[in-house]
Order: sequence, then C-alpha cells, then structure tokens
Amino acid sequence: MPQLSKARRIGVFGGAFDPPHLAHRALLETALHELRLDTVHVVPTGDAWHKPRQLSAANHRLAMAQLAFGDVPKICIDNREIARAGPSYTIDTLRQIAAEAPGAELFLIMGADQAAALTRWHEWQAIVQLAIICVATRAHLSNTNDLFEAEKLFPERFLHLGLPALHVSATQIRSNIVNGQPVQTLVSEPVARYIADHHLYLSH
Ligand code: ATP
Repeated sequence: MPQLSKARRIGVFGGAFDPPHLAHRALLETALHELRLDTVHVVPTGDAWHKPRQLSAANHRLAMAQLAFGDVPKICIDNREIARAGPSYTIDTLRQIAAEAPGAELFLIMGADQAAALTRWHEWQAIVQLAIICVATRAHLSNTNDLFEAEKLFPERFLHLGLPALHVSATQIRSNIVNGQPVQTLVSEPVARYIADHHLYLSH
C-alpha cells in the first residue's frame, strides 16, 4: 500500500530575544519534542510594536539567538522580521511560512504572557486560524488554570506544553547586568560572553 505523505509540522517561535535565555531554549526543546516538529523557525522580532521599550540593535539580538539556539537540531534562525521594513506582525510571518510550505501544519510557540495578550495582536483571529497556539506556563502569571481570552473562543486551536514554570526573563537578566549581579544561571555561557564583550545592558 502506498505510504500517505504526512504534513510537515513547522514550529514558529518569535520573540525579542533581548537577550535569549535558558527558558527560551527549554521552551524550544520542549516544543520540538512534544509536538514532534520537523523544524522550528526562531524569529527575532524586528520593530516590535507591542514592546514598550527600545530593543537592542537587531544585529546583536540575531547574533545572540545564533549563539543561544544555533546548536539545537531542526531549528533555523529566521531573520525575516528583522529584514522587513515597518512593524513586525506575526500574521505576515505565518502567511509567508505557510506559502513556502504548502500543506504544512503550523504551530506558534509562546509563553502564557503572550497568550494572554493574543487578542490584542494584529489580525489575531487569522493567526489562530493559521497556526495552533502552543503555550508554556510563565512563572509570574497567577491564575494559570484560567483559559486565555482567545482560547475560550477557539479552544480547539490551543494546546499547552508540559514545560514547568521557569523563573527566567530577559527583564531580569537586563536588570541583573545593570546592577552588577551574575547572569550565569540565566543565559548560556556564549551569550553571557557576547553580552560582556559588547557591553550590552549596562544602562536602562
Ligand atoms: P522581557 O522580559 O523583555 O519581556 P522575555 O523574557 O519575555 O522578555 P521574549 O523574547 O519577549 O522574552 O520572549 C519570547 C517568547 O518566549 C515569548 O512567547 C515569551 O512568552 C516566551 N518566554 C520567555 N521567557 C519564558 C519563560 N520563562 N517561560 C516560558 N516562556 C517564556
């Protein structure tokens, strides 16, 4: 009997990655494994419309993403949002990736803070139609058992990853650096070295 060809399973993991840290990597590895993904596009954001602060230069964030995740099998560091002029919209990225891989199933990977804000994203309903939303718990969010607003409307388009709550955030890392505190338990050694070599995050 002829083998039915299975749809490719493509993960998309976006973020400022300013800097990329160990919880990002744990989330990426958990998603790859639990969702049996064929590949994951790690997409550093360009001009992030939803981040209130100025991000570090894109070339630094891209270089650090390469150092943080470059050795994870099956991933590609995807610079399309950085290369794109104007605001970074996830829906544009998903549409491009869908067009590049016809018939693939898309899985959008995010932490619970982003899932909670999803209904404020540009064309969020189109995002939910195009990709399964794969959510990891975030340590600082309370009522983690509550369904997200978008999930209440489209429960069949959400799934929850089995990543334990990890007390790591880029905010914490930047603050540690400003305050002369160590970051060794929060970022990989090459990322820590890159931050030091390029004098990143020394002022707010
Ligand atoms: P910041 O503290 O500057 O807001 P961040 O640590 O949330 O940054 P981002 O680059 O904004 O890092 O996050 C990229 C993605 O990774 C988002 O979907 C975010 O929810 C998720 N993420 C970040 N940290 C964690 C964590 N500790 N556990 C689970 N998901 C996380």
